[in-house]
Amino acid sequence: MDDPFAEAGAAAAPLELVLRAAGPYLDGLPDRRVHDRSADALLAELDGPLPDRGDGALASVERLLEIGTRAATHSSGPRFFHLVVGGSTPAAMAGDWTTSLLDQAGGMWVASPLAAQVETTVLRWLKDLFGIPLSYGGVLTPSATLAHVTGLACARTWWGERHGVDVASQGLAGLPPMPVFSSGLVHPSTRKALQILGHGRDTLRTFARDDIGRIDLAALEAALAGLDGAPAVIVGNVGDVHGGDSDPITDLADLAARYGCWLHVDAAFGMFAALSPRTSHMTAGVERADSITADGHKWLNVPYESGFSFIRDPALQPRAFGDWGVPYLPEAGGDQVNYNTLGPESSRRARALPIWATLRAYGRDGYREMVERHLDVAAHLGVLIEQDPDLELLAPVRLNIVCFRYRPAGVPEDRLNDLNTRLGEALLADGRVYAGTSTYRGMKVFRPAIVNWRTTPADVELLLQVLHELGPTLVREP
Ligand SMILES: *Cc1c(COP(=O)(O)O)cnc(C)c1O
Repeated sequence: MDDPFAEAGAAAAPLELVLRAAGPYLDGLPDRRVHDRSADALLAELDGPLPDRGDGALASVERLLEIGTRAATHSSGPRFFHLVVGGSTPAAMAGDWTTSLLDQAGGMWVASPLAAQVETTVLRWLKDLFGIPLSYGGVLTPSATLAHVTGLACARTWWGERHGVDVASQGLAGLPPMPVFSSGLVHPSTRKALQILGHGRDTLRTFARDDIGRIDLAALEAALAGLDGAPAVIVGNVGDVHGGDSDPITDLADLAARYGCWLHVDAAFGMFAALSPRTSHMTAGVERADSITADGHKWLNVPYESGFSFIRDPALQPRAFGDWGVPYLPEAGGDQVNYNTLGPESSRRARALPIWATLRAYGRDGYREMVERHLDVAAHLGVLIEQDPDLELLAPVRLNIVCFRYRPAGVPEDRLNDLNTRLGEALLADGRVYAGTSTYRGMKVFRPAIVNWRTTPADVELLLQVLHELGPTLVREP
């Protein structure tokens, strides 16, 4: 029987198939639909039983590419405004391919000094880019959610030590619930991190002064005073996914200092406001936080998966995540950094390489220009909406999120939520432009987020054009 792996001499041949598909795919992104629902029928062709005898690498990869390039959601193109989904710069994507090519075990120095050193370098570059003190520790994570797990695990290590308990070793038994306070802007991923860590997602208390969720500082301070000196965690939020609001991080840092609290900041995409003097006031105070979360796969335009966690006191990271206690795994410490002792993962890919490639390619100026282009595109969309009698802008455009709803004359208020829900569904079914709906102050709204390096004003103009095509047909329906 032939050895199905006997193609070592032609190991690059399947890669050549990918490269050949890459040019037309990437160059075609600006012109194609974001998603073509008729291509969903192709998915069945990827299903089926596990083969006994394989097809060989070329046939297998050819099939995957043929169906994948048609059935994928082309969310790395310029008109995917749903959720907050970034694209991938050419340098970042090539860096990501390099990560796969080199296939490094990226957690331990001994397995890959390359991965470890580049991770140290990009963490320093990112701190520099964001205005975070270089003395902070950090680690790359698969996502902002896992960056929350990292930051909040360090927070609870600190909190356990304040109660005289080594939580990494002993767990939470016998301890009171860890108080965690935030505004109504808190993202569900923070609750998920608390849930994963065993604190329970519903132990987080929010203090909001209005139906947007903006923080009630007086109520938060009263709750902190009521703790009688017991340690607590405050979560600040920069860049809300609905109206683009942010918490006043400087005020939260002052409260954290006064009451001896840990301050964790979720700046998943909002951290990039620091790159432009037009928006950097939104991140003021973040440089005083104890832990900071940001994402690479959103506004940095690095492929999935890419997140960052920064920790003021780097010594907490190995206390929260190190100490394997087995002889064959290296311990924390020294210059030869083992990033798997500083974060939640063990084996991990060298996810620093695409970050290095894109920061090296475009630099501080390139990223500032991209962020400012997005601020301009979002502002342009906001102006078009304000001038449009059928649309209602619901929040000032502060950053890259534009919150609005369809509100044509003659449709009563109590029908608008239903109308906007159906318009949102029709928009996705149409597929030329993607934008999602959510609920903001009780209203069903659109909240496109501009984060893709390819996006131009014409792309957001097409969003409004498609809404104007689809909307009237839905108004006429009962
Ligand atoms: C997207 C987002 C998250 C979660 O990020 P993941 O990378 O999907 O885990 C957290 N907070 C905010 C504000 C976000 O926009």
